[in-house]
Amino acid sequence: MSTRDFDIAIIGGGPAGLTAALYAGRNRERAVMLEGKAPGGQLLNTELIEDYPGFMSILGGDLATVMEQQAAHFGTELVRSEVRSIKVQPDGTKLIETYDGDFRAAAVIVTAGGNPRKLGVPGEEEFAGRGVSYCAVCDGNFFKDVHLAVAGGGDAAVEEALFLTRYASKVTIIHRRRDFRAQPILLDEARKHPKVDFITDTVIESIDGDDKVRRLSLRNLDSERRSTLEVGGVFIFIGFIPNTGLVDTHIDHDKAGYYLTDPMTMMTNVPGIFAAGDVRSQLTRQITTAVGDATTATIAASKWVEEWRRGRDDTAAELADVSARGAPDAPKR
Ligand code: NAP
Repeated sequence: MSTRDFDIAIIGGGPAGLTAALYAGRNRERAVMLEGKAPGGQLLNTELIEDYPGFMSILGGDLATVMEQQAAHFGTELVRSEVRSIKVQPDGTKLIETYDGDFRAAAVIVTAGGNPRKLGVPGEEEFAGRGVSYCAVCDGNFFKDVHLAVAGGGDAAVEEALFLTRYASKVTIIHRRRDFRAQPILLDEARKHPKVDFITDTVIESIDGDDKVRRLSLRNLDSERRSTLEVGGVFIFIGFIPNTGLVDTHIDHDKAGYYLTDPMTMMTNVPGIFAAGDVRSQLTRQITTAVGDATTATIAASKWVEEWRRGRDDTAAELADVSARGAPDAPKR
């Protein structure tokens, strides 16, 4: 299969990738966006979005559709193909291997997001799809009038617990600490909600059941007291692991594995590799921050490609000049 050449390759089609595609297209770059699934990323796992400016509220799937249409409108090629690896070549270009052929680009913008972090307890894998879920929008409807548990203490856990109250008879949020990372406004809403209660300072030790989830074994970290909680399902929202394993070269990252980027350009320590959205180390990961990162990354990548080409042209001109004049004489002793 032949290798297709581009100026900029965008890896991933969430809000960051779609924004990068939009800006690259408007900048008239030869750009491709590679995404293994339907474009939208985490938007497709989010029911209602109320914190994206311009929309009082919009369904995640609807926002993904508009973003995709807008990205395609400006000419970036949107390719449905899963990326296997990104290899930095000796000439500085990046070879992107996918299951449907190879692509080469001067600059790459990694917007590959992440995958849900697993609890790693007995029963989690066994009951996946049979009461263990990582997506409230996808699976909430299967738990009508059921007591559900939600693991986690961040925005995702509290927001999705609130969402699950539409279906569940009760939602118990189980968090390993007393303090929550979730925004106070979400926590207040959950605390006031008649269907939501909290178990804090507690970890889930195992997920138990028969053909489906029936109960959780819990341990209080203060008292070491063990207990069980009868539930029909458990939704796990304990963060994401960034998708940073695609590039074959070391990229500087933080303790949790998120890429460190230059704040002015979003470029990593590897020349021509940029990062935006959930793969990037930053204070918060919102749709708005993903979109902002990607805007900066794409404008910076365009400038970088231009300079990189000029550097190559200058080198080529120097080489042509040297060969026209003949090789310089060996220095005299
Ligand atoms: P997060 O903010 O990193 O929170 C993860 C939570 O899971 C923390 O409470 C953490 O506990 C807990 N946790 C981690 N590992 C655990 C383990 N092994 N066992 C038990 N608990 C564990 O992740 P997130 O909630 O997925 O949010 C990710 C980012 O997206 C955040 O920046 C968030 O603000 C953003 N987000 C925003 C919205 C919104 O604004 N509407 C909605 C969703 C997500 P500790 O606190 O003890 O570490």
